Amino acid sequence: MTLTAASSRVDNIRRSLVGLKMPLALEMLDATLRRIEQGQIDGIEALDDLLTEELTLRENRRIKAALRMARLPILKTIAGFDFSFQPSLDRNRIMALAGLDFINRAEVVHLLGPPGTGKSHLATALAVEAVRAGRSVYFIPLADLVAILAKAEREGTLREKIRFLCRASLLVVDEIGYLPVTPGGGNLFFQLVNARYEKGAMILTSNRGFAEWGEVFGDPVVATALLDRLLHHAVVVQIEGSSYRMRQHADLLPENNRATAHINLPPAPRRRGRPPKVQPDQQYG
Ligand code: ADP
Ligand code: MG
Repeated sequence: MTLTAASSRVDNIRRSLVGLKMPLALEMLDATLRRIEQGQIDGIEALDDLLTEELTLRENRRIKAALRMARLPILKTIAGFDFSFQPSLDRNRIMALAGLDFINRAEVVHLLGPPGTGKSHLATALAVEAVRAGRSVYFIPLADLVAILAKAEREGTLREKIRFLCRASLLVVDEIGYLPVTPGGGNLFFQLVNARYEKGAMILTSNRGFAEWGEVFGDPVVATALLDRLLHHAVVVQIEGSSYRMRQHADLLPENNRATAHINLPPAPRRRGRPPKVQPDQQYG
C-alpha cells in the first residue's frame, strides 16, 4: 500500500471509530499503529487490543450504571466473604447460587440467620454477580418496599409500581422481620410476590423463622399466603453462627447469644391443585 493510500485508510478507520462511538479505540489508534510499524505487535494483536479495551470500558460503564439502578446500599463481593467465619454455611451452595441459574428458574432464595451473619452481604454479592452477568436487579429493604407500595396505593398507582418492581430479573428484599410491617403492608407485599411468582427471581433475607411470619406481617392469613408462593420454588440457606460485626467482642457475649439461633422451617405449604415440585429444604440438600 502506498503511503497516501495507507493514510486515507487510517482516516477511514478514525471516522468509523467515531461513528461506532468507540472513543478509547480512537484514542489508542495512533499508538497502536506505531507499535505495528515498529514490529512490536502484528495486525491481529492490534485489533484485539483496541476491541478488548473498548469493550472493557463499555462493560465497566454498563455495570456502574446497572449497579446504580439496582440501588445496592453498599458493594459486597463473594470473594470478600470469609466462609471460614461461618462454618455452618456450605460455600459450594453459595457458589452454585452465584452461577445464577436460580434467576433463570425464577426461584426464591431465602437467606436466614441471626443479625450480623452475612445475609445482606451475600444477598448484595449475588446481586453484584447478577449485574455483572447482565441481569437487571433491584434491591430494597422490606420496610421501604412496603412504604413505596402503600404510597402508590394512596396515589392510585399501585399497578404501575408493581409492574415496575416486576421488571428486574432479580428483586432483593432485605431485612424481613427487623421492623414490624405496617398494617396492610403484608397484603401489599403479597400482591407484589404474587405478580412475580414463577416469573421473576427474588432473594429474601430474614432474621426470623418462617413460623414467625404471622407475627412479622401482623396477619397469619397473609403470612401463609406469602409463604405458599415464596416456598414453592425456593432455596433456603440457613446461616447458624455468630455475628461478624461482634467478632472482636465474642468473649463479652452471653453464651446463648453466640450459639446458633435455630430457625425452624415451617410445615410444608399446602397448595391446592398441582403439588410443589420439591420441598424447599430438599432441593439442594
Ligand atoms: P446481616 O445482614 O446478616 O445482619 P451483614 O451481611 O450486614 O449481616 O454483615 C454485617 C457486616 O459484617 C457487613 O459489613 C458484612 O460485610 C460483614 N460480614 C458478615 N459476615 C461476613 C463474613 N463471613 N466475611 C466477611 N464479612 C462479613
Ligand atoms: Mg442485613
